[in-house]
This record gives sequence, structure tokens and C-alpha cells, in this order.
Amino acid sequence: MKTPDDMPLLTGYDRLKSARYNKGTAFTEAERDEYKLCGLLPAKVSTLKEQELRALENLRRKVSDIERYVFLLALQGRNENLFYRLLIDNIEAIMPLLYTPTVGQACQEYAFIFRQPRGFYVTPADRGRVRDIMRNWPEQDVRLIVVTDGERILGLGDLGANGMGIPIGKLALYTACAGIQPRLCMPVMLDVGTNNEALRNDPLYLGINQPRLTGDDYCSLVDEFVSAVQDAFPRALIQFEDFLTPNAYSLLDRYRDRVPCFNDDIQGTAAVAHAGVLASGRITGVDLVDMRIMFLGAGSAATGIADLIYTALRNAGLNDQAARQHLWLVDLHGLLVTGRENIAPYNLPYAHDVPDATLSEAIRRYKPHVLIGATGVSGTFTEDIVRMMAEINERPVIFALSNPTSNAECTAEQAYRWSEGRVVFASGSPFAPVTFQGKTYRPGQGNNAYVFPGLGLGAIASRAHTISDDMLLVAARILAATVGTDDLAAGAIYPPLARIRQVSLAIAVAVAEKAWEEGVAQEQRPEDVECMIRELMYEPGY
Ligand code: NAD
Repeated sequence: MKTPDDMPLLTGYDRLKSARYNKGTAFTEAERDEYKLCGLLPAKVSTLKEQELRALENLRRKVSDIERYVFLLALQGRNENLFYRLLIDNIEAIMPLLYTPTVGQACQEYAFIFRQPRGFYVTPADRGRVRDIMRNWPEQDVRLIVVTDGERILGLGDLGANGMGIPIGKLALYTACAGIQPRLCMPVMLDVGTNNEALRNDPLYLGINQPRLTGDDYCSLVDEFVSAVQDAFPRALIQFEDFLTPNAYSLLDRYRDRVPCFNDDIQGTAAVAHAGVLASGRITGVDLVDMRIMFLGAGSAATGIADLIYTALRNAGLNDQAARQHLWLVDLHGLLVTGRENIAPYNLPYAHDVPDATLSEAIRRYKPHVLIGATGVSGTFTEDIVRMMAEINERPVIFALSNPTSNAECTAEQAYRWSEGRVVFASGSPFAPVTFQGKTYRPGQGNNAYVFPGLGLGAIASRAHTISDDMLLVAARILAATVGTDDLAAGAIYPPLARIRQVSLAIAVAVAEKAWEEGVAQEQRPEDVECMIRELMYEPGY
């Protein structure tokens, strides 16, 4: 395997076809001589800025977002520096293409848009040789792995091997938002089959055509994968992504004390939502310790958020019982109450010893300040529900976190209209600003990209061997503190994405400091932590 340092001098088409070393039309006259490129490129030597403008214009000319996604992936495979420059400089416009919502459609249509391989696939046929095939990966030093088994892609369900778009997109965001070097990143698909009949009946489906592995067969393959990573890439942080909730929890429980890892759907979401809740308090004037928070949905996202806020409440001095009184979960079967049968273990701590209730009954009875939707089902925050929240609260706080946009519990426009403009609103996928009665509101996007890149960078920089709840809490506190008063005045509880690299750096510094404080860092603490982390950050350019 070749690393950049021992890579032979690439010339001619080999250079033009290497995404890392290609500069396309930006190769200077001297470089064209040196790398034997004369005759292979049009005459004009472009600057990176000109290339960026050309790419942007190309992007604009595409007729649909999925075409834009295909264009961006092709650019990533052609010229890494240009791709990341474009992404960083236009993060607000491009993030929704590479991540939710467009990536959802891309995964649904993966067979049609697949052009060139990217990422690493493990299948049941690789059992016993996962470590061996990992040698085929072109890098020797991997620090960050995003892995999915495709069973719960965004709010779209089981998309099998098509879910590869998710680790690819997330890692692109790690690089753009926190400057993790692209060569240190490895997207992984554990293709363990799919229970999606439509995919299995589709002759163009790219994954293995069998029902999903379950039970011991599933666990032992994941185990083999994790062991292979530890052996091949001992410095790698593993991010679990878009697993079905029970698997997400059991994998996190199994590995969180054994290998550096976290689950973004549970822990990343929790940190971002917790930050939003903290920032909403800066608008409503209600402190976290006084807030009642109700969730619609009791899956990995809602429970993860509840768990982290519970920890924050405990850290603030509340006892177990008192902290639980602040957190109420409602799911498909109504309010989580102790009388219910078959409560999932991760939901049990939130079952209250009260009578059963629907969402609207529960809102009337327990008067939440904050209502968080994580159901994956659009329309679940009805006009009645929003109006009820606005009756109870001067400034109701409502997060409609379900992705993609079409799955949001209510739209931003509905939330502002039904609350007469009083709602503090955030969503999972982006909504455009809303003008209501002459005032323009900027809905916040509770985008996990506010936290996971900085968290990953801090963990990698300090070589933390575990990701603790306190690291997530500190990330949330930093994020909430970066929201400016001008943002709050427009109703936004997250900073503009344009500031994401500064936010990620601040989070990385705080997370790394926490790792040193907790004694879980394997790297020596430098004199100047911020300077050390800043120097690690990749800045695309020629
Ligand atoms: P999940 O499948 O684990 O949980 C879904 C939960 O919603 C379950 O408890 C289910 O009972 C409940 N539910 C389903 N339909 C319902 C209905 N009609 N009424 C009440 N409850 C209902 O899924 P998850 O991982 O928790 O994700 C849920 C959603 O949150 C997804 O759409 C996902 O995209 C989104 N999400 C957003 C963010 C973010 O905004 N940062 C992060 C993670 C997940």
C-alpha cells in the first residue's frame, strides 16, 4: 500500500485521475511540464477560485438536486481539493445536497447513480477474512470510520447496501466542517442483507440479495469487523450510523468502553438537541432545571436526547427521581407509562407511574415547555398540538427533528403560523426562512453536523480511548454558547452553518480538554491545545 510520502511521482493521466493530486486546469505551465501533462489539458491555466466558480455554475445548471448530488460525488472522485473548497465555501447550499435531505433520495436511487466505488464493504461472505480484505484499503493510517448496516437510513427505513451514501456524506462533512484529512477517513457498509422486499426484487440492487443477518450471526460479523479495525487501524474512531434502534443501543453498549466509538443517531443527536434546548432557554428565559421536555417518538434519537438531558440535570444537582420528572416520552402507543407491557429497556427509565395518555392529553396534563418530535412521521404535530403548546407557553419551543424534510412533524411555516409567530422552532432538515406578519424568522436546523465533526476532531486529536457523556455535554454547551444575540433575535437557536469551522474547532478543543481531564487521552497534552488542533485541520488548496 502506498502512502502519500512513498507515492511514486504520478505523471500524465495517472496524475489527472488521482483525486488527491489532480488540480485539473489549475496545473501551472511548469507543473504541466514536470508531470507530463502538456497536451492533456486545455490551454487556460485556471485559479482554484475560477475552478470553484465553474463548478458552482455547473451545479446551478443541473435540473434537480439528485443531479447535483451526482455531480458533487463525481467531483469528489476527480479533484479532492476543489470538491472540499467548493463545499466549505458554500456549506449552507451544498450540505443539504450531500446530506439530508438529498442523500436520502440518493440512497433510495443508489443503483442508478452509482458511478465509481467509494468506501469499504463487508458482507457475510467475508467472515473469517475481514482483516485480510481490509488490506485492500488504499490507506495505512485511518483515524475515522463511519459505519452503517443500512437498516434505518434517515427516516427512510431499510435501504440495505444503498445506505453507503450516508457514511460517504458524513465523512465529507467531517472534512469540510472540522478539517479531518480526507485520507484518514473510511466509509464502511456492513452489507448484512436487507429485509426490504422491493430492493431484493430489484435486479439492479447492488447489495447482497438475502434477508438480514440477525442474532449471533450478525453480532459475530460486527465483532469481527471491530476487531479487524483495531488491528489494522488502531487509532481509528468508529462512528456507528443509521442502525436500527435496538442494534444501535446494543452495539453502543457492547463497544463504548472497549473501543473509541460513538453513535451519532443517539449521542450526536442528543448533543445537538441539548444545545438547542439550552439556547432556547436564552430566548424563553426558562432554565434547563425548570424545563419540562416532552418527546414524540421514543426511538434512538428521542431516547438519546432524554438520556443526555437527564445527565445534564443530574450534573446540575437533581436526584434521579427529580430529573426524570422533567422528561416525558410519547410514542406510537401513547405516553410511556409503567403500566405498559414490553417497554424497550432503553425506554424503561422514562416510564412514569401515571395514567395512559395521548400526546394532546399529555401536553394538557404535564404542560411541557419544550416539545421534540423524532418519529420519522410527517404531520404528527398537528395544528391543535402546536396551538396547545402556544396556549401553555408564551414562547413554546418545538423541534420537528424527523428527516428528510418531507418527514418533519410539522413545517416551519406551520409552526410559526399556528403559534402566531411565537414558537422557537428547529428542524432536522433545513427549512427556508419564514415571514409571518411582516417579521422574518430563521428556523434553526438541529443538524448533527454542528457536533459530530468537532467531537471527532477533539477525540482524534487527544486520541481519546472512549467518548464520555461529559464530552457530549461540553460539546453541547459550547455549541449553545456560540449562538449570537442576532441569531436569537431572529428565532435561531443554532449559529449559521457558515461559522461551522470555528464552532467545530471550539468543540474539538473542549472535547480534547475533557479527554485529558478524564484521563482517557492517549496523546500528550500540548501547551497550546487550540493551536495543535488548528494545525491538524485540513485546508483545501493547491
Ligand atoms: P426510531 O425508529 O428509533 O424511532 C421512531 C420512534 O417514533 C419510535 O419510538 C416510534 O414508536 C415513534 N413513532 C412512530 N410513529 C409515530 C407516531 N405516528 N406517533 C408517535 N410516535 C411515533 O427512529 P430514530 O432513530 O429515533 O429517528 C427518528 C427520526 O428522527 C428520523 O426521522 C430521523 O431522521 C430523525 N433524526 C433527526 C436528527 C436531527 O435532526 N439531528 C438526528 C437523528 C434522527
